Amino acid sequence: MSAGNRPPEQRGHRPDEAPGTGGRGPAEPASFHEMWRDLRTIGRAADTGGYRRYAWTAADADCRAWFQAQAEARGLACELDRNGNQWAWLGDPSAGDAVVTGSHLDSVPDGGAFDGPLGVVSSFAALDELRRRKAEFTRPVAVTNFGDEEGARFGLACVGSRLAAGQLTREKAYELKDADGISLPQAMEAAGYDPAAIGPDPERLARIGAFVELHVEQGRALDLSGDAVGIASAIWPHGRWRFDFAGEANHAGTTRLVDRRDPMLTYAQTVLAARREAELAGAVATFGKISVEPNGVNAIPSLVRGWLDSRAPDQATLDTVVAAVEQAARERAERDGVDLAVVRESFTPVIEFEHALRDELNKILGGAVPVLGTGAGHDAGILSTSVPTAMLFVRNPTGVSHSPAESADEDDCLAGVRALADVLEGLACR
Ligand SMILES: [Zn+2]
Repeated sequence: MSAGNRPPEQRGHRPDEAPGTGGRGPAEPASFHEMWRDLRTIGRAADTGGYRRYAWTAADADCRAWFQAQAEARGLACELDRNGNQWAWLGDPSAGDAVVTGSHLDSVPDGGAFDGPLGVVSSFAALDELRRRKAEFTRPVAVTNFGDEEGARFGLACVGSRLAAGQLTREKAYELKDADGISLPQAMEAAGYDPAAIGPDPERLARIGAFVELHVEQGRALDLSGDAVGIASAIWPHGRWRFDFAGEANHAGTTRLVDRRDPMLTYAQTVLAARREAELAGAVATFGKISVEPNGVNAIPSLVRGWLDSRAPDQATLDTVVAAVEQAARERAERDGVDLAVVRESFTPVIEFEHALRDELNKILGGAVPVLGTGAGHDAGILSTSVPTAMLFVRNPTGVSHSPAESADEDDCLAGVRALADVLEGLACR
């Protein structure tokens, strides 16, 4: 593997080494179906059927090799940037105003096959479709694979794009450690990359005129509307709050109910309040993580700590939901003789995708495409502060994501490829 700060690796197509083409000629790179089949086995856990493609592991290296092979099979120039993101260029990147598409290949623990890879595979397939259409490009085009999007190993999502966009400093990135205490630079080095050059990459981002990420939908909006493809409007604002409920540990058998200060009761009422307030506001709110002290089956807890994850279409709604949940928790805490402390641990404001680009996509796709918000973060959201970005979503019939059960029908995937090809043609072939 080349080092992060080496000059771009320029490789033209060589027919004698065209992996992933199933032994066919250079004019016929792997089809969508074949690319999907080749990726399918990489990093897949035999016991769960889920994917464990974490940053800078062997599975990640296999995904990266697959990306490079696909690029080479299409005669695209492969480039590895200083932050470990991969780029496959058609045309001269230095010409600027490039149209870039792509996504990520890493996964959450036991993730599904589609979150990320669908965008990368569809990008290559869309370029193939444009070659079949004999499209003539007037702008450079690239396919990307952003590194460590899910943050499964180091606990921070979108590391590759955050570094490039200057939203994560080199110093902070160097402090990231995985569960075994291995730091990000150590992991990069072990995988054969040079971590010395990681950091903001404004020159590279300045080449991009538009970034379009295709992604499997992580909800059921398209299934409910009966559409195969949609356009993203915004990524909902999102935060995490820690609720500490402090009561009094005591014997579960001998303490009269009226004498108890049981923080579990307060917590339970707070979970119900979160559900109720989210439902009323058209938001989502989840207590998905909890810790209990002393955590004994025959002890009234002294402390219950619960983490609230909440997201809403806009800031005001999110503020209202969280304030109402906190208010309900305080009222119940008073009644239970419990002390409550609430700490906001993280927050990401709303990310509105650029309206002009979004409208252009809608026009290119015939104007009848649903426009929907999403509660999930993406590289496109990170890049939106630096370059005009847009997203296409492909229908997910169950809405399940971050699970081996994540799915999309092949017909819908191919509709996504055609939509992405239309978008690239509309943007880059004018
Ligand atoms: Zn994703």
